[in-house]
Amino acid sequence: MANVPTGSKISIVIPVFNEAAMITLLLERLAATVRQLDRYTWELILVDDGSVDDSAQRILDQASLFPGKLLLRRFSRNFGHQAALMAGLEKASGEAIIFIDADLQDPPELFAAFLSHFEKGYDVVYGIRKRRDSGLWLKLSYKIFYLLFQKMADVSIPLDAGDFGLISRRAANIIKQMPEKDLLLRGLRSWVGFKQVGVPYDRPERAAGETKYTLRKLMNLAASAFFGYSSLPLRISTGCGLGAILLGLLYGGYALYGKWVLNANPPGWTSLLMIVLLLGGAQLISVGILGEYISRIYRQSLSRPLYVVADDHSL
Ligand code: UDP
Ligand code: MG
Repeated sequence: MANVPTGSKISIVIPVFNEAAMITLLLERLAATVRQLDRYTWELILVDDGSVDDSAQRILDQASLFPGKLLLRRFSRNFGHQAALMAGLEKASGEAIIFIDADLQDPPELFAAFLSHFEKGYDVVYGIRKRRDSGLWLKLSYKIFYLLFQKMADVSIPLDAGDFGLISRRAANIIKQMPEKDLLLRGLRSWVGFKQVGVPYDRPERAAGETKYTLRKLMNLAASAFFGYSSLPLRISTGCGLGAILLGLLYGGYALYGKWVLNANPPGWTSLLMIVLLLGGAQLISVGILGEYISRIYRQSLSRPLYVVADDHSL
């Protein structure tokens, strides 16, 4: 309880995209959780990321569970999970901010553990997924992604951590100042530094509805991670180029040897074709990798905001 006075405000930020089936369950469970953590005051910020179902209406209906403590921000369209988290952060006024998904895959019961670390002086506390109740294919892709990422990233981003977690006010203020268009909150969160700690938990299936992360959204997230936090891909393409030059020189030597010493020019069609194909492939990959960075520079140079808020309801 070191430096966190009783009654300190904690903000909960929840991105919501077509989660109508979840809202009642979610708010009831959150209400029960915060009732037990009554040495704090609470504020709930739900960001409706352009839902087309009646998520927003359900939130309005259940607002009495958090009288005077609930803010509903509605986007003008779907801007994505990461943008929704940032929009929530923008409005959060607590001493600490907790990010949690709407589908109850992140258990609110962990708040107590997050807060006890926060009270001990940690600025960043995040959930680590011990077990993932999802399909084998997805599980495998996540594993590969996190492992590769761990190897490549310039900042060390903890394995198997999602956005579920708590950040302190000072960490939040720094993150809010970073106007990144290709946002990866868990990346910025690591980048900020301070004292950080992970809390392991089992991640269940979502309580209702389907995942709102399409494969495309997941791929975008993975690309934000790779290209936003590492310049290794660029170096790999340089490496490929150097390798190709080396092979070319060796082959050139072999061809000259054939011509001058053996007096027999190698027929060489097959090898020629192979080299052209290999080099062409390597060049295309390099251009593609360059393109990823350039598209990021381009997006960053446009002054489009990360999201557009349609309205804010304080309830
Ligand atoms: N979400 C969002 N915008 C999107 C996709 C998802 O706000 O475009 C929200 C969603 O409502 C949920 C959270 O982000 O609260 C995580 O999404 P989901 O559970 O579908 O992802 P998964 O757990 O399957 O990775
Ligand atoms: Mg989920």
